[in-house]
Amino acid sequence: MAEAPTAEKPQEKTQKPIVPFLRIPADGGKPYLQGSRCKDCGATYLGGRMACSKCFSTEPMEDIKLSDKGELHVFSIVHQSAPGVPTPYVAAIVDLPEGVSVRCNIAGVEPDPQNLKFGMPVQMTTETIRTDREGNDVVAFSFRPA
Ligand SMILES: [Zn+2]
Repeated sequence: MAEAPTAEKPQEKTQKPIVPFLRIPADGGKPYLQGSRCKDCGATYLGGRMACSKCFSTEPMEDIKLSDKGELHVFSIVHQSAPGVPTPYVAAIVDLPEGVSVRCNIAGVEPDPQNLKFGMPVQMTTETIRTDREGNDVVAFSFRPA
């Protein structure tokens, strides 16, 4: 069976999530946040975990897909940040229905307290924030008003 030499194959541009718990399905499916659920007590965490901090179980956790919809739990408008980071922006904690809190930015809204309300519904969105040295898209997530 003849196989095409892989060296001649054009390099596929890939999408690299900025954090390991942001999952981008290779089949073009919708990106999602990955969580772990304790098989013993049901506690749910953002990303991977070696042990449950609620029941101290060290059984391997169940990998779950977290909801892309949540509620704005708390926010603050950031006016000063590291050089190169455009301000102002909205830093927030979003509560997901699985009982997980996610630190994130709120996009799609002017950074004005009038536009934001504690408990308002928000939805996850992703965007390419830059391209790395290999030409891959670096993808970040944020939430926006739903
Ligand atoms: Zn547990």
